Amino acid sequence: MVGSGPGGATVARELARGGRDVLLLERGRDWRGSRLYGTYPGALLYADRAALLFTRQGMNIVRPLMVGGATSMYCGCAAHPREWWRERYGIDLEDPAAEAARELGVAPLPPEFRGEASTRIAEAAAREGMEWEPQLKFLRPERADPFDCGAHCMLGCRCSAKWNAGEYVDQAVEAGAELWTRARVDRILVEGGAVRGVAGRRGGTPFQVEAETVVLAAGGIGSPVLLQGCGIEAAGRGMAMDTTVMVYGTASGKGIGSDPPMTWSHADDELGVLYSTLIDPWLMYPIIMAQKGLRWSLTWPRWGRTLGVMIKLTDEISGEVLAEDQISKGLTADDRERLDRAREVAGRILRRAGCDEDTIVSTPLRGTHPSATARIGEVVDTDLATEVEGLYVCDASVFPEALGRPTVLTIIALARRLSRHLLASGNGSRAEPGNPPGAPA
Ligand SMILES: Cc1cc2nc3c(=O)[nH]c(=O)nc-3n(C[C@H](O)[C@H](O)[C@H](O)COP(=O)(O)OP(=O)(O)OC[C@H]3O[C@@H](n4cnc5c(N)ncnc54)[C@H](O)[C@@H]3O)c2cc1C
Repeated sequence: MVGSGPGGATVARELARGGRDVLLLERGRDWRGSRLYGTYPGALLYADRAALLFTRQGMNIVRPLMVGGATSMYCGCAAHPREWWRERYGIDLEDPAAEAARELGVAPLPPEFRGEASTRIAEAAAREGMEWEPQLKFLRPERADPFDCGAHCMLGCRCSAKWNAGEYVDQAVEAGAELWTRARVDRILVEGGAVRGVAGRRGGTPFQVEAETVVLAAGGIGSPVLLQGCGIEAAGRGMAMDTTVMVYGTASGKGIGSDPPMTWSHADDELGVLYSTLIDPWLMYPIIMAQKGLRWSLTWPRWGRTLGVMIKLTDEISGEVLAEDQISKGLTADDRERLDRAREVAGRILRRAGCDEDTIVSTPLRGTHPSATARIGEVVDTDLATEVEGLYVCDASVFPEALGRPTVLTIIALARRLSRHLLASGNGSRAEPGNPPGAPA
């Protein structure tokens, strides 16, 4: 297994529980026990390029690299798989998603935890004729004492209320899997059209591991780069991002900064937009607004009174991933037109919620769902198998199109489905370290 985000962690746990020998290779560290986890300096350490990864078109991509993958910094939102998985691709994810949702207690937050200011936004949207719903969450306040969830929880959850794929990694290890952290895979080894293992560096020391089955779960940017390295050229040609902007406005009451992120949402599938309640954490706000100009950065003192509507666009497949730091992704003309319409809607809701017209502003483009870079039907088949025998992909890169929804429950469902397939077909077998960690390859 390469990568310990929701895709890799789920397959590792399921295969280990099914009695297979599993080696999970994760390039990042396990930051969960660190005092830095969930802090601003911590987020700079575990986000790729200190959170300053940009596409050629200037879109900022937030890409956490650590045990648990991007669930280390996610908003804890859940969404059941879109119906098009079955309708257009013949992939039924309903049962595996329902099982995962039951196991993890996926549910909206109880009303008293949805946040007063966030609820005001949902009520304002209702007056605009839009029905916002309490957002399903991987967030259980009863796990935390005290429950302390605000915008800062996007830096990493410090109160333990939020489920993180690192928990599946722990369960995989309990079931017998071996975990190597700081083990970055650089190459997939292929011989005669079949996978033979992987090679990389662990803490700077080269390693090589032999395996009959390799599951790539290095995420929407990591996986296509590794696939290109073994000759699968269609990988990384085109990507989806669920491109995101936030629209902010200042009102007289309390803002949404101390509310849990994304407690309410509304999907407009005709326009291809998901709206939700969200604001950037306090210290990130002026940095992000600086990209709009000094005038907007100076609105920082108003952060405590700011309301925010997040727009997530179901964007078209476009651009490419050539290397981890060479990514081309912007907006197509159609994306731009739909985003403009969504910004107008968000502005209207904020005005209804009491925001002054001249405080309303939209942030620059951001990407937190790199996906659809090794698409089902083009790079992998419906069993997530590549053209290389024994090589599978199981992460957001296999999405055949933009999800336009929180991704994690769908990825877990795909991973449970793949695990069943591997266990039933007798694959997913033993990993043989060619060199013990620390020894040169
Ligand atoms: C700020 C933020 C908020 C979000 N909020 C939500 C939300 O509320 N709900 C939701 O569903 N989704 C959310 N997402 C998106 C979601 O977290 C990701 O789409 C999801 O985690 C992707 O899972 P994955 O398994 O594809 O990859 P990832 O989670 O990216 O995991 C890939 C793992 O592979 C490792 N890796 C990469 N390359 C290598 C290599 N060469 N060798 C070894 N290891 C490697 C990485 O370190 C990483 O741990 C959010 C994302 C961000 C950044």
